[in-house]
Amino acid sequence: MTELLYQTDSYIQEFTAVVNSVLVEERAVVLDRTAFYPGGGGQPCDLGILSIAGVEFSVTKVKKQGEDVLHFLGGEKPLPAIGSASRGILDWSRRYSLMRTHTALHVLCGTVFRDYGALVTGGDMEPLKGRMDFEFANMRGELVREIEAAVNEEIRKGHDIQVRILPREEAFQIPDLIRTKINLLPEGIMQVRTVEIVGLDLQADGGTHVHNTSEVGSIRVADYKSKGAINKRIYIDVV
Ligand SMILES: [Zn+2]
Repeated sequence: MTELLYQTDSYIQEFTAVVNSVLVEERAVVLDRTAFYPGGGGQPCDLGILSIAGVEFSVTKVKKQGEDVLHFLGGEKPLPAIGSASRGILDWSRRYSLMRTHTALHVLCGTVFRDYGALVTGGDMEPLKGRMDFEFANMRGELVREIEAAVNEEIRKGHDIQVRILPREEAFQIPDLIRTKINLLPEGIMQVRTVEIVGLDLQADGGTHVHNTSEVGSIRVADYKSKGAINKRIYIDVV
């Protein structure tokens, strides 16, 4: 089982850990704790470096498998031994860009729901680029600049972002969470992590976010696409 350091502190760039197991065929190690985000909820995994017993490995992919986080090691150096001390260093420029992008998408989601009542059905991102799908029948080209201006105004207001880990029952009492389809969570999940942009948006979310919307900078609506009568896709760039 890997302790997920990024869940409670998304600003950890370096950490120490111990190798709990080694998967020889996959060239992957499981650590007792990690700040590497394994991907999920539209946010891609982190990359970086693991220095294990004095040997440096590039981390080419990170993936959650049950309660473990697998760190895939690049190159061909011999794999480390179980119990080795390691130091992880994130590619911070990539991760921080993803934090800004992820928060920007939540601002978009909160703003579009508040102004048009449109619900989110999905999303995806890469550093400084993202897209969200909405049930937004009356979305049209003329709204693009209006949405962009409203989102940038919320970013500029400097909303704080609060992360909480709540017992399932407590999370299910929060009406705002229901609209983001929290009721689809598998029954076995006893805790729900919530990300709140105070005063704007509240979601069940596993990703890493900045502390305040002012860190996002600003966004540009790059494009929008109709995916049918109801479903519309909005693309943003973070600048
Ligand atoms: Zn999210």
